[in-house]
Amino acid sequence: MEQTQASSPSDFIRDIIEEDLRTHKHQGRVATRFPPEPNGYPHIGHAKSVCLNFGIAAQYKGTCNLRLDDTDPSGESMEYVESIIRDVKWLGFDWDDRLYYASDYYEKLYQFALQLIRTGKAYVCELGPDEIREYRGTLTEPGRESPYRNRTVDENLSLFERMRAGEFEEGSHVLRAKIDMASPNITMRDPIMYRIKRETHYRTGDRWCIYPMYDFAHCLSDSIEGITHSICTLEFENNRPLYDWFLEEVGIRPRPRQIEFARLNLSYTVMSKRKLMELVAKGIVSGWDDPQMPTLSGMRRRGYTPEAIRTFCERIGVSKNDSLIDMALLENCVREDLNERAARVMAVLRPLKVVIDNYPEGKSEELDCPFHPQKPEMGSRKVPFSRILYIDREDFMEEPPKKFFRLSPGKEVRLRYGYFITCTGVVKVPDTGEVVEVHCTYDPETRSGFAPDGRKVNATIHWVSAAHAIPAEVRLYDRLFNVPEPLAGEGDFTDYLNPRSLETLADCRLEPSLADAQPGSRFQFERLGYFCVDPGRSSAGTAVFNRTVTLRDSWAKIAVKTTP
Ligand code: ATP
Ligand code: MG
Repeated sequence: MEQTQASSPSDFIRDIIEEDLRTHKHQGRVATRFPPEPNGYPHIGHAKSVCLNFGIAAQYKGTCNLRLDDTDPSGESMEYVESIIRDVKWLGFDWDDRLYYASDYYEKLYQFALQLIRTGKAYVCELGPDEIREYRGTLTEPGRESPYRNRTVDENLSLFERMRAGEFEEGSHVLRAKIDMASPNITMRDPIMYRIKRETHYRTGDRWCIYPMYDFAHCLSDSIEGITHSICTLEFENNRPLYDWFLEEVGIRPRPRQIEFARLNLSYTVMSKRKLMELVAKGIVSGWDDPQMPTLSGMRRRGYTPEAIRTFCERIGVSKNDSLIDMALLENCVREDLNERAARVMAVLRPLKVVIDNYPEGKSEELDCPFHPQKPEMGSRKVPFSRILYIDREDFMEEPPKKFFRLSPGKEVRLRYGYFITCTGVVKVPDTGEVVEVHCTYDPETRSGFAPDGRKVNATIHWVSAAHAIPAEVRLYDRLFNVPEPLAGEGDFTDYLNPRSLETLADCRLEPSLADAQPGSRFQFERLGYFCVDPGRSSAGTAVFNRTVTLRDSWAKIAVKTTP
């Protein structure tokens, strides 16, 4: 971690912080916060914000709070709070005892609202939602003042108290800030501070029926917590004057500064929680932690490492310009990290039986296979070899084209960490012509993987011993959408779902060393990709392995091919 922070390149946010430190603006303090609303599981976009806020705090010896920004009872729940806590920890960050809830500030915020009413800066408005919109004006026309704008302070105090007491219908009354209906910034045209919502809040139950709006609650929560730099995404740029207005009018200290950066957009997926929720609700994915989801829990289950995600967030950096980051960049970070740490093992995904006719029946031997060719310190395991093996169907062709170097009749190949074998014939299903068995001979002199006479083979293929292999289900994941920007197309984003985003192979065979592989552990299946043990079991009761990422970027080729 230390190293990650030390190498964080500077950006405009860090420049601001360094300038503030230089001028001793906040007595040399740096305090940030990560403020998710608990209405969904965190996704890779949140990871960018987490890495930024916690990363800055660590770099400048400051603090970063985890604040659940739970000011809207609709859709918020403890399940989401728990997912946020779990995922931020998993990413490798720690908030010590600074776990806060905006809902803990309800009473304070209510008192601040009363204060603004008393100073004539807030009023209770009885326009309906449509009228409020209509009175607001447009970008080119100023708004009109509400007929309720000039009530007396006493009238406002009484009405607001009655709002809190539950005397009014939802939508009938709101509390608004009295700012400027002619402001060129629409956000400043008497924004709503409180609305009535008759919904049970997951923490405060039915104690409240009025709830503060984001703009009112967020800046004050920041100040209550002593935040110095309140980092948010670009869409809040127009809200910054309002952020400052509330702090100024309430007269609260310290005065945090809002800084906006461009949110992460990633190709071939969607990131809005509402859209992700739709995928879950419609059963398009199996849940928020489906390995196809861009959620941190989905990525964890798929085998992504927190280190890879942090590296990704560091590489994309922060800027003021919206952009679309290529999914391939994230996948490459995962590949790079797993290349370093994943043990190499052998697995056959689509088994084809191979009989070594000159290998003694009933005999087996153990071949020593290193877990990582470049890292002897990772050790090795024994892999059993015997007369009947499985190889992957893709590694055999009865009538191969010119450039097919793997196994075919008359051809010799190397078995990874084992012998050379030569194909002598096949057994086929009479009606279909499907090859169901391949016959070979092996050369006992080639156990080391090399022939004493120096002859070469053109391919090395992976294999497992049929009698020793363990069965498993393997789920091959691919991108969830087949276009880079599913939300940019005509029609619904679900029209662009990739039909091949999940392929389940129920009858795979793995080398026996994988029998005790723990959920969450990650491996490279030689020649196939990186895989991670799923916490669940298949319907047949076997272990399930999720493909994390292929060894190479197969989409790059497709992209090149389809370029006219
Ligand atoms: P969504 O669009 O998924 O609903 P949100 O912004 O409403 O996201 P919050 O829970 O309010 O979700 O987000 C918590 C924090 O994470 C905020 O500070 C927000 O700016 C940041 N954040 C959310 N999405 C992204 C993203 N794609 N890239 C960077 N930061 C993000
Ligand atoms: Mg939000």
